[in-house]
Amino acid sequence: MDFNTGERGELFRREVREFFAEHLTDEVRQRVRETGTVHDWKLHRALGEKGWLAASWPVEYGGQEREASEMAAFYEEAALAGAPFDGLLTTLIIANTIRHVGSDEQKREIIPPILRGEVLVALGYSEPGSGSDVASVRMRAVRDGDEWVIDGEKVFTTLAHESQYVILLTRTDPEVSKHAGLTMFLVPLDLPGIEIRPIHTLGGERTNSTFYAGVRVHDRWRVGEVNGGWDVMGVALTFERTVTGGKETVRLLERFVEWAREATDADGRPRLEEAPVREAIARTAIRNEVSYLLAQRANWVAASGGLPGVEGSQSRLFYTTRFQRTASELMDVIGPEAVLDHNAEGAPASGHIEHAHRHSQVGTIYGGTSEIQRGIIARRGLKLPSAR
Ligand SMILES: Cc1cc2nc3c(=O)[nH]c(=O)nc-3n(C[C@H](O)[C@H](O)[C@H](O)COP(=O)(O)OP(=O)(O)OC[C@H]3O[C@@H](n4cnc5c(N)ncnc54)[C@H](O)[C@@H]3O)c2cc1C
Repeated sequence: MDFNTGERGELFRREVREFFAEHLTDEVRQRVRETGTVHDWKLHRALGEKGWLAASWPVEYGGQEREASEMAAFYEEAALAGAPFDGLLTTLIIANTIRHVGSDEQKREIIPPILRGEVLVALGYSEPGSGSDVASVRMRAVRDGDEWVIDGEKVFTTLAHESQYVILLTRTDPEVSKHAGLTMFLVPLDLPGIEIRPIHTLGGERTNSTFYAGVRVHDRWRVGEVNGGWDVMGVALTFERTVTGGKETVRLLERFVEWAREATDADGRPRLEEAPVREAIARTAIRNEVSYLLAQRANWVAASGGLPGVEGSQSRLFYTTRFQRTASELMDVIGPEAVLDHNAEGAPASGHIEHAHRHSQVGTIYGGTSEIQRGIIARRGLKLPSAR
C-alpha cells in the first residue's frame, strides 16, 4: 500500500479545507455541542451538491471515483475541522450495504437521494439486552401477504430524530438458531406506529430509544433474503468498523498545544516549558501517528474493494482506547481547572479537552465494544479460539 497522499490527495485536501472553512461555522459547532445532535443539514446538503458524500464510489452510482489518498485527505480535513459527521457515517454504512446486497429497486430509490444529501439512515440494531450479542434481538417481523408487521423496541438509535429511514434487524423465525432467524429491513421512519424518545449521554451526544407497534412495511423494503439478516449484518458491521481518519485526537493535541503556549504557572512561565506537558505532547503525537497509519491501512483495504474486518477492528480498538487515555492524561497535566466545561469562564482550551474527555468514553462502546474488537482480532486475525 502507498502511505503517500500524493499530488491528487494534496490538491483535494486544499479544496476540502476551503470548503469546511466556508461551510463549517462556529455557530454550527456550538449548536452541535449544545444539542448533542452530531449532524447539520445545511453542511450535509452542501457536501451532497459537491458530490462528496460518497466521493470514492463509481461514477455509475453517483460517485467521483476519488482514490484512497483523496478520501483519506477528505476525512482528515473533516475531522480537523470538527465536522459533525454522525449522520453521514451511519448513512454511508447503509448506502454501502445496499450497494453490496440491496435489490435494484432499493439502489434506485435510496442511493440517489442519499448522495444528494437529502436522506439520512439510522442504525436500528441494538435493543435493551441485545448489544454486543446483537444476534439475540427480539424485535419481531411477521409476514402478512406483501407486507411485514414489525413490533418491538430498539435502543441507541442515534439520529433517528433526523433520519428518513432506519435499518432494522428483526427476528422472523424464532424456532431456529438465533443467527438463522433474522431478517433486515430498511424502514421509512414516517410510517404509523413508530415513536422516538431522546436519550442524552454523558458524552453530550443525543441518541434515542425507538418503539415500533404494528408497523406495516412492504416486502420491497426487505434487505437480503428472508432469514438472511445475519449475512447483511456482517456486511454492514464491516463498514462500521472502518475508521475514517482518527483525527479527533490531532485536533485535541492542537488545542492542548495552544493552551500550553498561553497558560502560565504561578511564576509566570509558559506551561509549555514544563516537562510533563512536553511529554504529554510527544506521547499524543506518537499515538496520533500510529492511529493514522492503522486507519490508512483499513481505508486502503476498503478503497481497494476489500472488506477490512480485522484491519478495521485493529484501527478502531487502538484509536478509541488511545483517545480515552490521551484525553484523560491531558486533563491530569492541566490540573484541577481542566474539569471546567465550555460554559465556565477561564475553561482551559475553551472546554475542548473536557468535552473530548467525556466524548471519548462512548467510542469504546458503539460499533462494537473494545472486548468485541479484541475478539475479532484474536479469532479472525490471529486464529485463536473464542474467549466465550
Ligand atoms: C452513544 C452511543 C451510540 C450508539 N449508537 C447506536 C446506533 O446508532 N445504533 C445501534 O444499533 N446501536 C448503537 N449503540 C449501541 C452499541 O452498539 C451498544 O451499546 C454496544 O454494542 C454494547 O452493547 P450493550 O450496551 O448492550 O452492552 P453489552 O453487550 O451488554 O456489554 C456489556 C459489557 O460486556 C462486555 N461483553 C459483552 N459481550 C462480550 C464478549 N463476547 N466477550 C467479551 N466481553 C463482552 C462488553 O464489552 C461490555 O463491557 C450506541 C451506543 C452508544 C453508547
